[in-house]
Amino acid sequence: AQPAAPADPAVLPAGVSAADMHAAITKFVAILGPQNVITDADHIAPYTKVMIAESEDLHRPSAVLYAREVSEIQQILKVCNEFKVPIWTISTGRNFGYGSAAPQSAGQVVLDLKHMNRILDVDPVLCTALVEPGVTYQQLKDYLEENDIPLWLSCPAPSAIAGPLGNTVDRGVGYTPYGEHFMMQCGMEVVLANGDVLRTGMGGVEGTSAWQVFKWGYGPYLDGIFTQSNYGIVTKMGMWLMPKPPVYKPFCIRYDKDEDIHDIVETLRPLRIANVIPNAMVFANVMWEAAAIMPRSKYYDGDGVTPDSVLEEIKAKEGLGAWNVYAALYGTKEQVEVNWQIITGAIKASGKGTIITEEQAAGTQPFDYRAKLMRGDMTLQEFGLYRWRGGGGSMWFAPVTAAKGSETVEQTRLAKQILGEYGLDYVAEYIVGMRDMHHVIDVLYNRSDPDEMARAHECFAKLLSEFGKRGYAVYRVNTAFMDQAADLFGPVKRKVDQTLKRALDPNGILAPGKSGIRI
Ligand code: ADP
Repeated sequence: AQPAAPADPAVLPAGVSAADMHAAITKFVAILGPQNVITDADHIAPYTKVMIAESEDLHRPSAVLYAREVSEIQQILKVCNEFKVPIWTISTGRNFGYGSAAPQSAGQVVLDLKHMNRILDVDPVLCTALVEPGVTYQQLKDYLEENDIPLWLSCPAPSAIAGPLGNTVDRGVGYTPYGEHFMMQCGMEVVLANGDVLRTGMGGVEGTSAWQVFKWGYGPYLDGIFTQSNYGIVTKMGMWLMPKPPVYKPFCIRYDKDEDIHDIVETLRPLRIANVIPNAMVFANVMWEAAAIMPRSKYYDGDGVTPDSVLEEIKAKEGLGAWNVYAALYGTKEQVEVNWQIITGAIKASGKGTIITEEQAAGTQPFDYRAKLMRGDMTLQEFGLYRWRGGGGSMWFAPVTAAKGSETVEQTRLAKQILGEYGLDYVAEYIVGMRDMHHVIDVLYNRSDPDEMARAHECFAKLLSEFGKRGYAVYRVNTAFMDQAADLFGPVKRKVDQTLKRALDPNGILAPGKSGIRI
């Protein structure tokens, strides 16, 4: 039987009348069929569920659309322009701690592209792939295995259910030598607000074989403006994949004291810049390590910040460091041996740090899931972080740090102090890029406690402003704080963002508010 026509939405986008919304929904149904136009509360509920410290009402969509083809997206945009209906695009919609699948403001129609999930091409010779938005990491991994293609992925931590396109356009990172995902992206197809289909890089050249191999094309390089933005809907993305190395050697270095973070950075930065350590290694603090493997209640049941004495007990009993470095070597046996000598020599010369090899860790956590991450395998182990305090609240505070010991010490001190004022834990890791580090802090709190949620919200605002005063800003932020984060980058940047928005999307229908950008 034909499904019934969808009911009128319970929530309307700002400035759109009920009559116009009804007309838009009717047209969406004509394009997609009634089964792909969702307005009932039960089915909208998962798209409203957020981990950020704001009421779900502020992020409740009016409707959810499922599209599978570029031509459908073009027709949807025509309707959106006609009725000024805003549309929030997601690919796999797992942006946990950054807003999940929910739009930046209430009433936006979610365009969910999870069913547009074809792996269009994998070239085992050039080590490239071309994927649609709904392709998940697990799907791509399975494809490579089933077809016996020895290429590795680079994934964010809870990766199986997320996907490369959504992660890359939000400039997410992973843990392999290809961990800076946007750097390894090559060529896009983008549907613009007026329905035009743009292929970036070499993609517009008729008959090209270089779309997935040469990033820059000719003239202004445009891919960047379609990341963390709302200038288009990305429908295809090219990416580079890493050849599986003959030898893979993950290792951990444990450091006892909080203040060791200074020397960790000074010792390892030169090795990273020289590519002796080729991957996006991490420095995880004791609380991150513990949270990945157990609930806080195993050692502490009180409110507020986990006391230092408890952390000392956890370190001793679980064998964890105050800081725990995870890195890996990749290559032939000879290459790995040479680099291993260099690394062990540098650690020895620094006079601190205990190296743990894969053999010594012998399949235990958290080493085991870290080893998986650094070879791009799927793991959901870090969902454990959400159990640390319980209650489903999580917001990533992720300031960019220059890879200098002094800066790390300052950022760690400041973050701990501010979180402490609000009774929240410092659960942190540094993810090392080429010369920067993403200082990723999971602001975990109990969403079912209104007081704690309000505190977490205030705390996050203060983290942004206090870090901002010292010249530190985030690489990415959740939907509740996009404007505040955008302000840190100065008024000229905001003006240029808006100028581009007005030129490419004059009705402001695409994801208004994303990264603080509106017409
Ligand atoms: P993941 O599940 O990998 O975390 P999402 O699908 O949640 O990725 O996407 C993350 C963010 O990227 C979304 O919130 C949205 O702002 C943006 N985004 C996702 N898909 C697209 C797309 N196809 N075109 C433009 N922006 C997108």
